[in-house]
Amino acid sequence: MAAVPTKTHCPYCSLQCGIELDASGGSVALTPQDDFPTNRGGLCAKGWTAAELLGHPERLTTPLVRDRRESPLRSATWNEALERIVAAFQLAQQQHGRDAVGCFGGGGLTNEKAYQFGKFARVALRTSAIDYNGRFCMSSAAAASNRSFGIDRGLPFPLADVAHADVLLIVGSNPAETLPPAMQFFDEGRARGAKHIVVDPRRTPTATRAELHLQPVPGTDLALANGLLNVVIREGLLDGDYIADRTTGFEAVRRAVRLYWPDRVERITGVPENDIVAAARMLAKADRAMILSARGAEQHSRGTDTVQALINLALALGLPGREYQGFATITGQGNGQGGREHGQKCDQLPGYRKLDDPAARAHVARVWGIDLADLPMPGRSAYEMLDAIGTPGGVRAMWVMASNIVVSAPNTRRIAQKIGQLDFLVVSDTFLSETAELADVVLPTAQWAEESGTMTNLEGRVILRRKAVDAPGGVRSDLDVLADLAKRLGAQGFSSDSEEVFDELSRASAGGKADYRGISYARITKEQGVFWPCPSPSYPGTARMFTEDFPTPDRRAHFHAVDQPAPAELPDDEFPYYLTTGRLLRQYQSGTQTRRVAQLAKAAGEPVVELHPTLAQSVGVRTGDKVVLRTRRGEVVMTARTESGIRPDTVFAPFHWGGAGSVNRLTIPTLDPHSRMPSFKVCAVAVARADTTDLMKGEVAHE
Ligand code: SF4
Repeated sequence: MAAVPTKTHCPYCSLQCGIELDASGGSVALTPQDDFPTNRGGLCAKGWTAAELLGHPERLTTPLVRDRRESPLRSATWNEALERIVAAFQLAQQQHGRDAVGCFGGGGLTNEKAYQFGKFARVALRTSAIDYNGRFCMSSAAAASNRSFGIDRGLPFPLADVAHADVLLIVGSNPAETLPPAMQFFDEGRARGAKHIVVDPRRTPTATRAELHLQPVPGTDLALANGLLNVVIREGLLDGDYIADRTTGFEAVRRAVRLYWPDRVERITGVPENDIVAAARMLAKADRAMILSARGAEQHSRGTDTVQALINLALALGLPGREYQGFATITGQGNGQGGREHGQKCDQLPGYRKLDDPAARAHVARVWGIDLADLPMPGRSAYEMLDAIGTPGGVRAMWVMASNIVVSAPNTRRIAQKIGQLDFLVVSDTFLSETAELADVVLPTAQWAEESGTMTNLEGRVILRRKAVDAPGGVRSDLDVLADLAKRLGAQGFSSDSEEVFDELSRASAGGKADYRGISYARITKEQGVFWPCPSPSYPGTARMFTEDFPTPDRRAHFHAVDQPAPAELPDDEFPYYLTTGRLLRQYQSGTQTRRVAQLAKAAGEPVVELHPTLAQSVGVRTGDKVVLRTRRGEVVMTARTESGIRPDTVFAPFHWGGAGSVNRLTIPTLDPHSRMPSFKVCAVAVARADTTDLMKGEVAHE
């Protein structure tokens, strides 16, 4: 009888495309699942080549330790590695208090790992110092959604609903390159006659398919959203009944957007007044309209307010909760959604509970079997925890789980310096990432298809990524390592079985905003995933939210008046252009995995900076030249490519590389006051040909 392929999911982004892996023939064959609802047989280049990660020659298969800071990493036994960790954590806490040990997680961790990592920090270490790299990804959208809707689920409706919308406003998102299989839903809509409006400083592949492309100055999306609402109000296109019946706070917003008349918004954003008016009319007059946002609108020092402005627009048009309409934000990382629900955030307990809420604390302490008094209070957010290293009260020893912070954090040169000030760093990962290279102990852990665990995709659908192959000898799962270390630290109740951990997670989440109590591995298998909230086994799950009301205390959605802020940094004589950053089709996040896949590395093997031909000419650069990008935080060297579709005052660089090509050396760590999101998407930059800049050449030559 032929072996049955294992149904599982892609290791990368939030679409979590369904795939099948067949390891029966000696090698691993990967095919898409034709019937999985989000990809329906589609995969992007990353998904098609993901099996190359299994059995990769650079795979870590033994723990590594460093005898002294300056010594090279050497192989060690698991016992030696874990004993070193225990000794270092205990020493740091004895000398400097419990918060001297920090934990830093990732948005790619399964729900079970994210949950168990948060429990490990609070129960085994009793530290408040835990946060994760999703702070750099979705936190502004989460903050605005919580504030307005009372809950944070990226898409409050199934992805397939996109095909039914008549007009889509897509702000700061490029799904044609970041989620290619999802484009079938967008294309289906356009084939039916739907019109898409894309807001992006670059003419991306998503923008080229749109009816209308608005190219604002980076960091001015908030003014644009307020300008669209200004037109909607002036032209009497509001949904007055919806505003009256289902929302609060509109009058303050009405007053605030009075100042955003279209010609003023044109002066702020650079978007022509006529296009602003046309976009507002298209959106407001559609039978079914949707507004989608993503990191382009969110990764700013006022990202929460920018998302809020888009939510205000959606509420004024009466979209959220109506069939095939609404506001949504498109998650990026594989488990960006679930990873922010179950307790690896500094202020959060499982089920999206607040760590400083007495009732939430009591509930979770009961599930964990600990004294309420032993549960730490909220700690510092991701960048703040890293930035405090080397200062009084900062962490002295840290565990980084599956995150490459010296590539993905903002202002990475400073972060690398901070990491160097730690007394002890342990990194668990599948490959020797740039962050792992700095560690005192490296733990080789299992990857996606080598272990089972749940992920929550961009729609809030909880899915099961099943084990399809055995991990190489010497490799252990993160859950196994967490259980072992917890035991060595004297803590009880840490299972290494993913299904057992999920059952505990679902109990801990019961009654919370992200309630998984009714979800089980068996149900996920039978139903192709289950949408949360799902409070009981008999509950069908919640595919579409807000149809009746909103989960706020008054059951209404809340408007909040917001104003376009002054940017954290503006171009000037020394740094005359805008720098914006983003993802490429053939790379993923910090590139730890995708830079090691031959086909992807061949197609996108180095960072290339895009600049408009006019800008290129003014600085004497042609496609293929090496250029130096310089900001107040540092310099990087990249190859140039001229692109007529980008704004002439803006350059775009991808963030998938470390070292001398790491664009996050340039980005600015000014944090959003609500979400603590750094301002990745805009800062002021100087551009010059590498061979014309002696000062820059000297700097770069040190790499
Ligand atoms: Fe994987 Fe995302 Fe590509 Fe799908 S779209 S194959 S989940 S990287």
